[in-house]
Amino acid sequence: MFFLGTASGLPVQDRFSQTIVLELNGELHIIDPADAASSLLARARLDHRKIRSVVVSHMHADHHVGLIQVLKTAMHLGKQTSIQILFPSEGIEPLTTFLNACYLPIEWLGYPVDIHGITAEPHAVNEHLVFEAQLNKHLNPYRARAAGEPFSRAWRYQSYSFAITAKNRRFVYTGNLGKGLQEIAGLISEDSVLITEAAHLKVDDILAELETLQPCHTYLTHFHPSLRAAELQEAIVRRGLSERVTLAYDGLVCEFD
Ligand SMILES: [Zn+2]
Ligand SMILES: [Zn+2]
Repeated sequence: MFFLGTASGLPVQDRFSQTIVLELNGELHIIDPADAASSLLARARLDHRKIRSVVVSHMHADHHVGLIQVLKTAMHLGKQTSIQILFPSEGIEPLTTFLNACYLPIEWLGYPVDIHGITAEPHAVNEHLVFEAQLNKHLNPYRARAAGEPFSRAWRYQSYSFAITAKNRRFVYTGNLGKGLQEIAGLISEDSVLITEAAHLKVDDILAELETLQPCHTYLTHFHPSLRAAELQEAIVRRGLSERVTLAYDGLVCEFD
């Protein structure tokens, strides 16, 4: 697991926008490719030709806006094997339209691209990797704010968290949430490795919820600049969670058996 970028929607000098890569059986699976995704893959010497799937949690730009350059770079490198894209269904038509506007029709990429709208049904990328999506409440405030606005007619407020089964390992990933981890309590079990945002949630609330939910390990990422990592680390130690909670940083690589 590569934490290539660990910032929220506001990148800073030492944290670029979020991009996470899961490597499994020599293939790459990208979760939420933000603006620097393709460059960060190159910096980490991860080969675009090995990308097998891309998963996007919701349509805020800091979770997908790097996708088009990732597809373009893969084309330039001569990728031939297919990519599956798991995408909020509300974004599929705009994505294909924008690819066309970028002179990048899918037919010209040189490799098959299969775009799947995210549903409640588990999606198997292959026999070793399954994504199970659950709607969360992250976009609910936008629903209220956009009520009656003509520009919002196509919006469906699809923000997802995922249980990811990779071989024998269970990950739970959430790009953003609304109120807190209790929204995804049903996904988290004692054998789950949790990867969760720290941008919109109160740190004390996250840590208190982790004491209750008890995933086997938690990686906090998607940091807002106002969050002081040193203070957060102190709070983690104070609560006796230092063995079970890791603050992600750009370039962090974690291996799982
Ligand atoms: Zn975000
Ligand atoms: Zn968001």
